[in-house]
Amino acid sequence: MTIMQLFQFSTEDACEDYLIRIRWPEGLSCPHCQSKDFGKRKGKTRAYRCLHCHRFLSPTAGTIFHRTRTSLQQWFIALFLVATDKRGLSALFLAEQIGVSYPTAWAMIQRMRHAMLKRDLQYKLSGHVEMDEMFIGAPTEGKKRGRGTEQIPVLVAVSFSPAKDGKEYVGFAKLRAVDTIDAPTIVKFANDVVEKGSTVRSDGYSVYPPLEDHGFIHDRHPVGKQKAHVILPHVHTFISNLRSFVMGTYHGLDETHLQQYLDEFCWRFNRRKRHQEMFDRLLLACLEKEETPFSALT
Ligand SMILES: [Zn+2]
Repeated sequence: MTIMQLFQFSTEDACEDYLIRIRWPEGLSCPHCQSKDFGKRKGKTRAYRCLHCHRFLSPTAGTIFHRTRTSLQQWFIALFLVATDKRGLSALFLAEQIGVSYPTAWAMIQRMRHAMLKRDLQYKLSGHVEMDEMFIGAPTEGKKRGRGTEQIPVLVAVSFSPAKDGKEYVGFAKLRAVDTIDAPTIVKFANDVVEKGSTVRSDGYSVYPPLEDHGFIHDRHPVGKQKAHVILPHVHTFISNLRSFVMGTYHGLDETHLQQYLDEFCWRFNRRKRHQEMFDRLLLACLEKEETPFSALT
């Protein structure tokens, strides 16, 4: 999706038709009787009537687009901005661009981030994985970020595949903000995001060896003569990119939302080779059912 292609969404109907194509690539299908015959949509409601069982189907039911006062056009611009912005979209900017209040824009961004997380939770890292930990500072409101404020531990896992030429190719990444770094936390993270049987490469930190007892192969490399970035090259490159992302976006936010920023960063990283498809993929992620109550996000 390019900015020029956004012109195709010049009406609400155009947005809705596109949404239907993404959600039902084979065409609208009745969830009750599987019929594909629908009557013309009536009035302003987004409901189509099944010609077979006469029930109504709303293309947005159960998704984050349902029953919001925000139009699909506004949502589509927001999706485009989030899908293409590499630095994390500010709610203030979004509010100005699409003409909604700041809290509405903020909630929209949170919902998109949550959809990204749900999508990424469906995949685990496998094969070869590097794991390490980092710390991210959380400036409290009204305070300037300063040196020495780095405090929230974040666990990092990056998968890679060794090639015949001796090189290693980076695959996907997972991040989790945690309260503390100890062996049980590491094991839980690995269980949640890495397939059993995978090989986990780490430095010599004592929290990693228990992975051996939980179905992982542990490849331990104590930092001795070699520098950490030589031992764990993929995770270190990833961490330095994450640091610049955090520096560019993480201002005046409290730590309760750190995980959502991490999720957004991972989602984008994991799709870095497919940025032409980002819009469609984000739209699809947002169309997944099981809507989280707004209260859970704030
Ligand atoms: Zn039906």
